[in-house]
Amino acid sequence: MIIAVDGPAASGKGTLARRLAAHYGLRHLDTGLLYRAVARNVLDAGGDTSDPDCRRAAARSLDYSSLDAEELRGPEMSEAASIVAADGEVRAAILEFQRRFAQAAPGAVLDGRDIGTVVCPDADHKLFVTASAEERARRRFAELSAAGLGVDYERVLADIRERDERDMRRAVAPLRPADDALLLDTSDLDIEAAVRAAVRMIDGS
Ligand code: C5P
Repeated sequence: MIIAVDGPAASGKGTLARRLAAHYGLRHLDTGLLYRAVARNVLDAGGDTSDPDCRRAAARSLDYSSLDAEELRGPEMSEAASIVAADGEVRAAILEFQRRFAQAAPGAVLDGRDIGTVVCPDADHKLFVTASAEERARRRFAELSAAGLGVDYERVLADIRERDERDMRRAVAPLRPADDALLLDTSDLDIEAAVRAAVRMIDGS
């Protein structure tokens, strides 16, 4: 079984995808980490994410075993990731890895922006997870504050809006629900309620 979970930044899709993988006994891939790792490799090599040659070389030589570093998850890598992710050649270079991951037994839950539309258009189940920008910013703000990072709520909200814009407006694989995706708005749901709602949707579809 393959489950595609797409949605904007901080919608809760990552936690939800992990929980669904545990519930159904599937593997889980957070595909945002791939774009974050490409961005990190560009920066580590002293390059610039706005340079197509740099980011494409980083995508082609990506080491898929180096995706668990905590540094990938920080806010400075979020923006850099969304810049490299707008490049069609970067996306093409890491597509095959995602498809192989999805297809290997016993199946997988992949979360990202284009899983239901591009990576796994034939997924058995597709969820598109949303929440208002304000609620997503509140969650991200709480997470960053709990991690001891001094952040400003208005800055977090502005970053989320900017990333949404870039992800939705790009020409290749823009963020959008697949035509056959089930929509799950988590604005008023905590994670337990969101998992229950998602399981109900999947089991009922
Ligand atoms: O999901 P996460 O916030 O870690 O993703 C970081 C960035 O990577 C996103 O803002 C988006 O630009 C890009 N991304 C993407 N396609 C995916 C996953 C992430 O374009 N499937």
